[in-house]
Amino acid sequence: MFFMFGFTQARYCAREKGTMKRFLMRTVVLLAAALLLLAGVMLYRTMTFTSMQIQVAERPLPEVNMERAVDTLSAALRFPTIADLDISKMDASVFLAMHAMLAERFPLVHERLHKEVINGLSLLYHWKGADPGQKAILLLAHQDVVPAPDAESWEQAPFSGVVSTGCVWGRGAMDDKGSLISILNAVETLLEKGFQPRRDIYLCFGHDEEVGGLNGAARIAATLAERGVQAVFTLDEGLAVVDGDLFGLNRPVALVALTEKGYLSLELKAESAPGHSSTPPKETAIGSLAAAVTRVVNAPMSPRLTEPVRLMFRYLGPEMAFPMRVVLANLWLTRPLLLRQLSGAPTTDATIRTTTAATIIRGGETENVLPAEARAVVNFRLLPGDTIAGVTKRTRNLIASPRIALAVQGQANESPSPSRADGPGFAALQQTIGHVFPEALVAPSLMIGGSDTHHYAAVAENTYGFQPLHFCPGDLERIHGRNERLGVESFKRMIIFYMTLLERAGS
Ligand SMILES: [Zn+2]
Repeated sequence: MFFMFGFTQARYCAREKGTMKRFLMRTVVLLAAALLLLAGVMLYRTMTFTSMQIQVAERPLPEVNMERAVDTLSAALRFPTIADLDISKMDASVFLAMHAMLAERFPLVHERLHKEVINGLSLLYHWKGADPGQKAILLLAHQDVVPAPDAESWEQAPFSGVVSTGCVWGRGAMDDKGSLISILNAVETLLEKGFQPRRDIYLCFGHDEEVGGLNGAARIAATLAERGVQAVFTLDEGLAVVDGDLFGLNRPVALVALTEKGYLSLELKAESAPGHSSTPPKETAIGSLAAAVTRVVNAPMSPRLTEPVRLMFRYLGPEMAFPMRVVLANLWLTRPLLLRQLSGAPTTDATIRTTTAATIIRGGETENVLPAEARAVVNFRLLPGDTIAGVTKRTRNLIASPRIALAVQGQANESPSPSRADGPGFAALQQTIGHVFPEALVAPSLMIGGSDTHHYAAVAENTYGFQPLHFCPGDLERIHGRNERLGVESFKRMIIFYMTLLERAGS
């Protein structure tokens, strides 16, 4: 009986072993087939991940009177049109003197375009198109600059407009008088050539972009909205032509911002009874505030790929080396990997999440006195899709303390919904960039800073942020930093860019 049992068990075991072996074999085969299928899908997606770059027929670039252009930019840089949050501290006379200079140097612009001064210092020019049924194009730039407090450490004085070493030097050369003077030069030159646009063209030059644009760009946009002006697109400063090394590419990349991030500062305030530090209560204003700030900054918002950033990889991915192409062509699988990679450095991390930065903390004056109040400010830069209300509510929930009062501080703005990369506006930009910067790849993107652009969201279908300027290594630090300057050759390309764009998109 035992023998029988043992025999049966042995046979049973043998059968079970055989079944197990078959099961394992089948699993291995299935796994191999699944892996093969996965590899096949990934390879197929990589192979069909085709280039988004366009071929632009070579055409000779138009002639530009660079002597006049350089002379005018140099003159513009000599006006210290410094912006200040306190509007009464801004020197209106230097703005008005610059306006007079512009009127003198661009006679055709001032004869043929309708010029208006908005809110005292902003400029709005209207070039009437031949076909009033067409939507307008708005070209934006700002007249104001940030101060140059460390003037003595500049190679050339910041408001000298000196032309030296192939550059025009001065605060505002790149940000943003270079654009303003390029636009006016482009229009003046087109007028000299007898060009007549089909669409209405508006030139919008605000005077307080560096402090939020509420008195300049916002007022220009409101004026246009009142008149029922609708634009097919606006073009403002924003991104530019940058070094392709940043993306592992050996060609420069022209990045066009489809939108900019939103802006929100929240003030956290804690109060408690003032008293002597020798008998502190369990909770003090500083203790409560510090705990609240820690909770907020230790809980960063989740990363995600917004449409402008996804499109950036869609446009640049096919130009990258094979391994990166596989990753970017298969975001359905590789998205977490890409997000982890991007979160590794602050500049790329800012493209994939609403950032949280504690920027101000104040409380207490005397070392042995408990203050009655402590305040902190946390600044958020909102990804498209994250809202002021949503981030405020989340912050309130994170703090979860009735002792902390939360309020929006200063001016906040939402991130406008991203502009289209598949419409005529983007196509015109892509073609113009291809013509003027044939060495560069073109890609949509997201601007992580802010500009005047968001003020125009109500009057334009699309708002693009692209300055037609090729940034060389070290150039970025010059903006708002020391030794700001614009290379004469770069300046020439900027003028040609605006001429070509107006000829292409305006006609
Ligand atoms: Zn600027």
